[in-house]
Amino acid sequence: MNRAKHAVGLLSGGLDSSVSLALAQAQGWTIDLALTFDYGQRAARAEKEHGCRVATALGIPFRHLRLEWFSWFRTGGALLSQSDALPRPLITQLDDAAFTTESAKKVWVPNRNGTFIEIAAGLAEDLGCEAVIVGFNREEAATFPDNSKAYLEAISQALRFSTNEAVRVISPTVDMNKSEIVAEAKRIDFPFNLLWSCYESAAQMCGRCESCTRLKRALSQSSETPLDSLFQDAAL
Ligand SMILES: [Zn+2]
Repeated sequence: MNRAKHAVGLLSGGLDSSVSLALAQAQGWTIDLALTFDYGQRAARAEKEHGCRVATALGIPFRHLRLEWFSWFRTGGALLSQSDALPRPLITQLDDAAFTTESAKKVWVPNRNGTFIEIAAGLAEDLGCEAVIVGFNREEAATFPDNSKAYLEAISQALRFSTNEAVRVISPTVDMNKSEIVAEAKRIDFPFNLLWSCYESAAQMCGRCESCTRLKRALSQSSETPLDSLFQDAAL
């Protein structure tokens, strides 16, 4: 198989990873496999369901992988522990660096993205793909270094040593904030009702955790998006 423009995608079912894969396809990439992970996160059930829906809509083979050993972590904060409260920022707090630095610590899971990428890179080489596609974004890179362009470049360099074919990691959304990702999603008619960006699992996204609040802010800048059909609490 010609490896050119074949990739394995990481897919949580959220805005960034879902739109990244759709944009990659629009740029001529073939996604041979989308991977969604259960690492004991509150949203695991919803991410599996919505990741599968997104992959199906995009015509991508889908696999769900359980990483049970993440439960050994003593850290992992509110994302892994039901007893820790998830931060619920106001939209006005999203640009407050002191606030978001603290809120990021509360949902930090050690080396989570690094683990996912390393697993996907091995599968990419095995499947004859040249890349792993991830949904990084400039907005969250400010508080999550494993969401940054610098990390993309660094881990691509590291993979030159651990894969024979120098699998690289790319992200069509890495230079965008969430509003720009929403604009790109609209441009390619991405179905927003397939998404799950919430840190919780439920029938609808909560509308109050930081991930929901960032998505609401981005969607609210586009007037025709029906917020109340996506969120339990659609108030801005
Ligand atoms: Zn939420």
